[in-house]
Amino acid sequence: MSSRAQAMAGGRRDTILPRPAVFAATYAVTAVAWTLAGLLWSSGNRPFAVSLFALGLSLGPCLTAYATAPRPLKQLQRRVVLLVGGLSVLAPALLGAGSMDLEGFFLLLFAGTAGAALGHTLVTVIAGPLVFGRALCGWGCWRAMVLELLPARRGPGRRRGAWALLPYLGLATSAGAALGLLALGHRPPAPTGAPTASLLPVLVACSVYYAASIGLALALGDQRAFCKYLCPSSAILRFTSRPALLRIAARPDACTGCGACSRVCPMDVDVAALAAAGGRIGPGECVLCQRCVHACPKDALQLTFGAAPPPHAIRPALGGHP
Ligand code: SF4
Ligand code: SF4
Repeated sequence: MSSRAQAMAGGRRDTILPRPAVFAATYAVTAVAWTLAGLLWSSGNRPFAVSLFALGLSLGPCLTAYATAPRPLKQLQRRVVLLVGGLSVLAPALLGAGSMDLEGFFLLLFAGTAGAALGHTLVTVIAGPLVFGRALCGWGCWRAMVLELLPARRGPGRRRGAWALLPYLGLATSAGAALGLLALGHRPPAPTGAPTASLLPVLVACSVYYAASIGLALALGDQRAFCKYLCPSSAILRFTSRPALLRIAARPDACTGCGACSRVCPMDVDVAALAAAGGRIGPGECVLCQRCVHACPKDALQLTFGAAPPPHAIRPALGGHP
């Protein structure tokens, strides 16, 4: 019986995406991205041409390499996707088209003008997470692409209290930086992607982000400390990702409670407890890296898609090991 038929027989509303459909969708996006990249390059818009080329590369060939890699190489391949996806966000900023991050978003918003950072933030931080959760954090963040190369690994556990409020401070700082730039006479980049006069604000912002995220990771011995405690985008993603359809699900009948999944989770999600209960992992903190999936010796965890209660019969979706 197919997974879809099993889902229907069990009255579930989730569906395990068949790999051919996922690959067809990702390569369709790649084809569109590369076509647009070619058009933009020929029209002189190099920053966004490079960005779209990298986006297509990460969603097509790099994701295929991840999905077809043997289990021991899965996380290495995911870091390749993360690196190329992260560069697709960083490239336009470094090539003079302005920040694609929240500062760029706030700058355009406060200046009352259109621009790429508006669309990018609406898609990646607000609308996209409603469906795909925090996949961007695990697969396409320009800060995480560096953080995941650090010797610091997983932290000792989630810090509580005031730490939980720090991302909102990060969000306020991001908005304040945009207001400060406007007050200093800085103007947002042209919507056409034409290089701006000064790279200085972008270089300062990147340096501050990397100094804060790398410093926090090394100080706390936690690779993803910035994602948990300071990232301004996470202050929004925690909420927008809640209804996400893409989630890790568990088969409680296969789970032995060994805890290997919880021990590798970089975001301190208690995966084992959810697995024992047969739950789907709440997306507020989960970045869909699938480390837990690959660490589980019983194949009790998989990536699933749908608005669903716990599945009882699951099969690998994209990225699941064969
Ligand atoms: S729950 Fe699994 S997929 Fe989510 S962040 Fe933790 S290890 Fe990654
Ligand atoms: S690693 Fe697998 S078997 Fe072990 S607790 Fe997690 S889901 Fe259960």
